[in-house]
Amino acid sequence: MLKRDEWLDLARKLDWSFSYVDEREVFPEVISGRPWLAQDAWKDWDEPYRTTYAEYVTNQHAKDVALDAVREAIGRVEDFQKHDASWLNGLKLHVATLPLAEFAAVVGNLRAGRFARDSAWRTTAALGALDELRHTQIPLLLMHDLVQWDPQFDWTHKFFHTNDWVAIAGRHLVDELLLTANPIEFAIATNFVFETGFTNLQFVGLASMAHHVGDRMFEKMVQSIQTDEARHAQIGGPVLQTVLKHDPAYAQYLIDKWFWRSWHFFAIVTGFAMDYLTPLKDRTASFKEFMEEWTLDQFARSLEEYGLKKPWYWDQFLDGLDQYHHMVYASAYTYRATVWFDLTLPGPEERAWLRLKYPNTWDRMEPIWERITERARQAGPGVEWYTHGVTPVAFCDLCQLVLCEGTTDANSARTYAHEGRKYIFCSEPCQWIFQTEPQRYAAHKSVVGRILAGEAPPNLLELVKYFGLTQEMWGKDVAGGSYPWLVNAKTNGA
Ligand code: MN
Ligand code: MN
Repeated sequence: MLKRDEWLDLARKLDWSFSYVDEREVFPEVISGRPWLAQDAWKDWDEPYRTTYAEYVTNQHAKDVALDAVREAIGRVEDFQKHDASWLNGLKLHVATLPLAEFAAVVGNLRAGRFARDSAWRTTAALGALDELRHTQIPLLLMHDLVQWDPQFDWTHKFFHTNDWVAIAGRHLVDELLLTANPIEFAIATNFVFETGFTNLQFVGLASMAHHVGDRMFEKMVQSIQTDEARHAQIGGPVLQTVLKHDPAYAQYLIDKWFWRSWHFFAIVTGFAMDYLTPLKDRTASFKEFMEEWTLDQFARSLEEYGLKKPWYWDQFLDGLDQYHHMVYASAYTYRATVWFDLTLPGPEERAWLRLKYPNTWDRMEPIWERITERARQAGPGVEWYTHGVTPVAFCDLCQLVLCEGTTDANSARTYAHEGRKYIFCSEPCQWIFQTEPQRYAAHKSVVGRILAGEAPPNLLELVKYFGLTQEMWGKDVAGGSYPWLVNAKTNGA
């Protein structure tokens, strides 16, 4: 048998000149992506792992055996029931957005497995597709037994199939990023920006909190997934390098667009989990601190290495880092019947911690929590209450999330007319993304657009049914309003 080194390069680099068809017919620009370049321009594509299929199968098998052993030991319902209720609700949020997005990534990788422009790239993408299938199955398997205990865990599988407002936003992102992107946009958006830029927030940040909470199953799950991500994320760099050589403006555009879109996604999923749903004693750092260490420093450094600029909206983004997820969380807490997980009311100690971590902006959030706390105190323990009326809020026509950019005093929402239709955006970057590729986004209807078109009910109580929720599973206060500090307590976080 030949030794690995004697055949690997030949097998990985199996591109040839076509004689019966034109290269453009084999790799049409519409599905292979732009800039369209002859294969010669891609022939130096390489990544450091250079995994063979035999190695792949052996390694993945060992990972699954290790994960299964942990599941046998600590993956039963009783093991999960021991965890803090607030943490478990962060888990519900996280696992709902995860598996079917991973499945969409299978499709994106498979497209690259056929239409990417270099053979080694196609091979790595094919292994990436197998990775993402594994990432689909692991959380579905681990959470399945929990459904009989707590029906909110059913959203692990159900979430992306519903019209819940978070799911509409999730699909708007995932459909474009993973399901429909051509291999070039997929490599830069998913492999470079999303996987190397952001996923360490989960794999390092949230995993370290899981360790403190004592949720070793979650910790093991994300670590097992991370070893796959670290490998196929390597697809992005060499693609970016070639695109930069031929169309640097397009490369910069893809970076700017996908950094913004990824940021909004992680601000909700990870921002909520780290700054609100992880018990205070188990928080190892704030969401902002993790963003600074694991995203901003590293991402800025790799942009510099490639000769790219920071996105044009960088200052707006930094302002938002202090504020955005706090605004969305306060909104979600108030409208908690519109989501599938329970939310916690931050008490005096939590608010003092948040002031310490967000000294520039937290004072603006205080009056909001004062009002909410007062409402909870009046309602008394055990009574679910909602501060809002029956009118739904407005959503951004790009990211599909509630209009929470800007500050509590000056919301940065803006309107824009396109071909006779009026659109509303939460922020300048969301409007800019829409304006650059209106053909991609103009036909999509937000929640409000669906209500105006008669597709969704205007009354909030009816709307939650449209969202796929019933009273049994919709979001409530995590403690049922019973907080030791709430009665006769001074709740100011100062
Ligand atoms: Mn994955
Ligand atoms: Mn991945």
